[in-house]
This record gives sequence, C-alpha cells and structure tokens, in this order.
Amino acid sequence: MLTTVELKKIPIFSCLNDANLLWLAQQAADVHLEAGEYLIHEGEPTPFFVVMEGTTEVLKDVMGRQTEISEHHRGGFFGELAILMATAAPASVRAKTACHLARLDPQHLQELIRRSPECSALILQTLNERVQVVQKYILNLPSSRVQIIGSKFDGDCREIRTFLSMNRIPYDWVDRDRRTRVAPSDPTCHVAGLSVVVDHSFCVTHPPTVRKVAEALGFQTAPHQQSYDVVIIGGGPAGLAAAVYGASEGLSVLLVERKAPGGQAGTSSRIENYLGFPNGISGDDLSQRAFRQAAKFGAEVVLTREVHEIIPEADGEYTVRLDGGDKIDTKTIIVATGVEWRKLDAKGVDRFIGRGVLYGAARAEAPTVAGKNVFIIGAGNSAGQTALFFANYASSVTMLVRGEDLNRSMSQYLIDQIALVPRIRVETETEVVSAHGEEYLNAIDTRKKADPVVRRAADALFVMIGADAKTNWLPAHLQRENGYLRTGREVSHQPGRAADRAPFLLETNLPGFFCVGDVRYNSIKRVSSSVGEGSMAIAFVHQYLSLS
Ligand SMILES: Cc1cc2nc3c(=O)[nH]c(=O)nc-3n(C[C@H](O)[C@H](O)[C@H](O)COP(=O)(O)OP(=O)(O)OC[C@H]3O[C@@H](n4cnc5c(N)ncnc54)[C@H](O)[C@@H]3O)c2cc1C
Repeated sequence: MLTTVELKKIPIFSCLNDANLLWLAQQAADVHLEAGEYLIHEGEPTPFFVVMEGTTEVLKDVMGRQTEISEHHRGGFFGELAILMATAAPASVRAKTACHLARLDPQHLQELIRRSPECSALILQTLNERVQVVQKYILNLPSSRVQIIGSKFDGDCREIRTFLSMNRIPYDWVDRDRRTRVAPSDPTCHVAGLSVVVDHSFCVTHPPTVRKVAEALGFQTAPHQQSYDVVIIGGGPAGLAAAVYGASEGLSVLLVERKAPGGQAGTSSRIENYLGFPNGISGDDLSQRAFRQAAKFGAEVVLTREVHEIIPEADGEYTVRLDGGDKIDTKTIIVATGVEWRKLDAKGVDRFIGRGVLYGAARAEAPTVAGKNVFIIGAGNSAGQTALFFANYASSVTMLVRGEDLNRSMSQYLIDQIALVPRIRVETETEVVSAHGEEYLNAIDTRKKADPVVRRAADALFVMIGADAKTNWLPAHLQRENGYLRTGREVSHQPGRAADRAPFLLETNLPGFFCVGDVRYNSIKRVSSSVGEGSMAIAFVHQYLSLS
C-alpha cells in the first residue's frame, strides 16, 4: 500500500491535506511494472496513473506503426483525458524502465477533483494543454502511408488495394485511366504501369505485388523457425482464434495466410451478431484486433503466403510446403481455410472477371462504384451486407435473388435495414443470363421466371451465390464430404488412425491433423462458431501432444 508520506512527495498531491492524503492512500493501487509492460492500450478505457518512480513512454498507432510520441517521469500523470472526456485512450502507455505508479479508478479521480480545488486546477490545465497537443498532432499526420498509381482494371492493383484496406493501412489510389498526370511521390517510381510508393519515399520494385508491398510495410512474410508445435493454415476468424489461444497457452505457433488476416469476415462491412459488440463491428476492425492479439502472445503470422502441400511423415509429424518451395515441420496441423465463392454459370461472365464482375465483397471497390449502377447476385447475409455497404456509394444497387424472397436465407435485421434504403432494389425469382461489354462490363441480361430476357445497363456485378470448400490440395486420404473435411464423430474408422482411440472432436482421420471453421464438414458458418472452434482446437492439440 502507498503511504501518505510517499504520496505527499509527488507534486500533484503535495497540496492535499492530511485527511485527503489518507483517503488517497486508501484508494490508490500500488503498481510495480517491469520495462516493456503496458499500462494503457490505445482505444481501451483507462484508469488514472501517477508516476512515483521510473519512466513511461506514450505510443500511438500511426497507420499501423507504433510510434513513440512522449515520455512521463516521476510526478507525471496520465489517463485524465480519456476519463474526463468519457472517451477511449488516445494512445498506449508502456513502462520504459522499471516503474512504480499510483493507480486510481475513474470514480476516484472524479472524487479527487471534487475534494481538492488545487489538484483539480492542475489536472484540468494539463488536460487542456494535452487536447491542444493532440489537435496539433492530428493536423500534422500524413493522410496515407501508401500511394498507388494504377488502373482499376489491373488485377495486382486491386489486390494491393484490398490487402491494404483489410489491414487498415490508409492509402491514396490514383486511377491511372482517369488521372493521367499525377506523378508518384518518389520520382524513381515513375513507370507506365502500376507503381506503389510506401511511406512517401520507398518505391516498391517493379512490378509491385501484394507480397512486396507487405514486406515494405514491415509485415512478416516468411517463417522464422524450422519447426513448430502447430501450423495453422488460414487467417480467418477460426485460424486467428487458434493462433491467439495456441500462443497464449505456450505453444509455438505459425499461422500462414495467403492474403490478409480476416478471411471472409474481414470483407464484412458490419458484423452485428458477434457477442460483445452491441453496435456491430466491421470485419477488418475485428480481424485487426485478433491479429494484434495473436502477435502480442508471440504467434508468428505470415501473410501473403500460401500453403501448397501437407505431407504426413512416418514419425507422425507433418511437413508443410509453402509457395516458393519453403518447407517447415510441425507436430500438429489446424486447417482453417474457409470456403471459396462458387462460380456463376452465365454466358460471357468469365470474360469480365476483374473488369466489372467480382466474386465476394471487396470494400476497397467502394471508389470504383461511386455513382454507378451496381448489381449483386445472392440472397445470403453476405450479399445483404454488401448491398447496404455499396448503397453508400453507388447510385443504385439491385439485388438479384433466385428464390421467392430473402426470408429463407437472410437474417431479419438485414432484411429490415435493406427495406429502409430506397437506393436498394430487390428483384426476386430473377437470374442473370449473360454479361456484355467491350473492354469492361456495361450490361447484363436478366430473366424473371418465364418472362422475356431484359437487357440492363450494369457497371459492376458482385457475385455471392454460395461457396465451396477447396481441399483437393490436402492429403488424398483425408475423409471429405463434397470437399468439406470430416472430423470427430463424422470420421469412420480406417487405416491412418491409431485403433485404440477415436478422433478428438475437431480432429480429422489423420492423427494430430485438425480442421476448424467453414471448411469443416457440418460446421455452422458464422464468425462466432469459427472463433469457438479455433479456440477449442487448441485444447485438443494439447491433449494430442500429451499422448506421445
Ligand atoms: C461479406 C460477408 C459477410 C459476413 N457477415 C457475417 C456476419 O455478420 N456474421 C457472421 O457470423 N458471419 C458472417 N459471415 C460469415 C463468416 O465470415 C464466416 O463464417 C467466417 O469468416 C468463417 O471463418 P473461417 O476462419 O472458417 O474461414 P474464412 O473466413 O473463409 O478464412 C479462411 C482464410 O484461409 C485463407 N486460406 C485459404 N487457403 C489457404 C492456403 N492454402 N494457404 C494459406 N491461406 C489460405 C483464406 O485466404 C482466408 O483468409 C460473412 C461472410 C461474408 C463473406
């Protein structure tokens, strides 16, 4: 416990009378931290801290990078800004050296202000100065980290934009077809095709790819070790949950994701049914939080790399081969590769993929549909969310639905929201027959039941007509059902499994080879169930490892 004598020596408390010092000593927590430990996390609620000994550093997430902006020494205090303005912490605070601090809960800071006019004056004056510092700081921040100059028809350009948007890295995109005179911020980057400049001065070598951009931004793109306790394939909610639980429970974990963290959920504009977020949360926000959480616990998350093969070895372990040929060893596997959009079988559609026709919902496409006529094929929640998102940009959004209504396939809250947006039109019992255009999609033919085919102007067509599991690259003797991997009780006994035990709930017919999330046979295709399965799989990994 802090003593009144210790507290009296700290300038902010020196004006307190004995009764108030005693009250303070009874309320304040006596906190001791090692260098590197966090007191406050940016974006979270915070208590009030006063430094008794040592130095703390204030860190701000500036476009994906932790940047030190100031320090606090003995007598310094912080946390009042968020508490008194009823907001989240504008920055993180970490112990720079071993630290001794006094911590007050928000209600005790309010009480301190009420009890002592002198303390109140000092705290409010400091708050005022800090608000001004924050304002100046925000005004001087660059608006983006990456400049992209490229055509909207360029597939690499689109992939890079999607990667940056899923990783919440702010970027400036100059559509080369429309704004021909804009030059790259690094003149050495001037080329006829796609050019990408990172942090205003680093030109990504030609031709830029998602992986090169990821490396320039400091993301991990190669494993650091040769062998792991568990390798997780896929960085959607299921894989990220497995990484968080695995690393937090002391396993050496590698997660390999071929694109950006988040998977399908990362493309969702607002997930409204995930526990703990009463106002909903965007998919990229949820994924970024999970990504940071996995990294905090020490999981290696390798982005922009694809697993091409998994080879079961005679000793019961597995060899994992990545694109480019790198091989790593692991005791266990968790497959969390989700599903891929089903292809639309309509005349001419394939010719316009990436040129007006897109599978799934890429939020990075928002600027390309501004003021345009957008069509969405699909009647699931994903199609509903996509319609609501693009209705903020497009001049019209038409949902083409094969069934009689949305009720059987879409959640009621989305149906209700769609009904309130005049720009969204839902056409039921309607199918796309063909797609038309020269270089780029400009029209589609649709048919409602037995009515004649109608041609209509279309600038973009998003296809979201269900998805399939693509698992033909996995070991041939894994038991599947239409591509989905069988686990637990769904596995029938056969060679490849030790006869003396049944598979764990999420284990396939290969021992130590687990499967979670949408790619698992009979799974419930939701964010929450994927997260649940990812975390449960780690418990089974522990049980499996303890067998040997
Ligand atoms: C637009 C949209 C909105 C949605 N909204 C909701 C919602 O509001 N609420 C809800 O509960 N659910 C929602 N869903 C469903 C939910 O997102 C999925 O059920 C969930 O994401 C499944 O998680 P997963 O981890 O199993 O797979 P996924 O999210 O599909 O992730 C799989 C990951 O594996 C990666 N991968 C695949 N193969 C490889 C390989 N060989 N090597 C490396 N990486 C690989 C993929 O790139 C992908 O990132 C939505 C889905 C979409 C598309």
